[in-house]
Amino acid sequence: MRMQAAVHLVYPPQCLSCDALVTTDFGLCARCWRETPFIAGLVCDCCGTPLPGEEAGGPVQCDDCLAIARPWSRGRAAMLYKDNARHLVMALKHGDRLDLARPAAGWLLRVAQPLLAPDALIAPVPLHWLRLLKRRYNQSALLAGALARLTDLPHCPDLLIRHRNTRSQEGRDRDGRFRNLDGAIRLHARRRWQVEGRPILLVDDVMTSGATLAACAEACLAAGAARVDVLVLTRVAKDG
Ligand SMILES: [Zn+2]
Ligand SMILES: [Zn+2]
Repeated sequence: MRMQAAVHLVYPPQCLSCDALVTTDFGLCARCWRETPFIAGLVCDCCGTPLPGEEAGGPVQCDDCLAIARPWSRGRAAMLYKDNARHLVMALKHGDRLDLARPAAGWLLRVAQPLLAPDALIAPVPLHWLRLLKRRYNQSALLAGALARLTDLPHCPDLLIRHRNTRSQEGRDRDGRFRNLDGAIRLHARRRWQVEGRPILLVDDVMTSGATLAACAEACLAAGAARVDVLVLTRVAKDG
């Protein structure tokens, strides 16, 4: 008997999100799957938010991305930040559910195909060290690392540094979010050579206004990155 099968006899695999038993490791049960708003179909080419209508001829953008100039090139999101997706992100971020990074990377991979340049470098959105100390891990770095393993692309977890401990973005309007991040993120001085002339794929758990990703993208572009794309597990979208 294979080791895996023996383990399953004793510990049958559980749904990632509830206690239902499932048939494979790292899966969701049918109910949780239905309650997880995975994104499919036509999406904004810049942030991955779903758009009404059929597959268009060329890239299309959502109203937000048309209104705010994004410094990055293309973006994708695996899920909408609501229902069970919100629950999964909270568990990864605050619930010590580090095991979620691996299946989440699989969900990222489903939407990441247009962003996976063969010479791309994967980097997470950074946490300030004080917050890192408190939380003990950066959930975005866990996602980025797991995605790097799935894609065989290099991962640089400390490419970007948050040198100012910005106050929480929660409760701020869009302009406030952008102002709060101003000058807060910079490139690690010793990683600069890795960025020059190269496409960078930024990974984060949630995109709301895009202010944090914009600050990260700008730091990469200022250091000579060929282009920056962004990939997020969840996108906060206006209900519509
Ligand atoms: Zn479940
Ligand atoms: Zn968009």
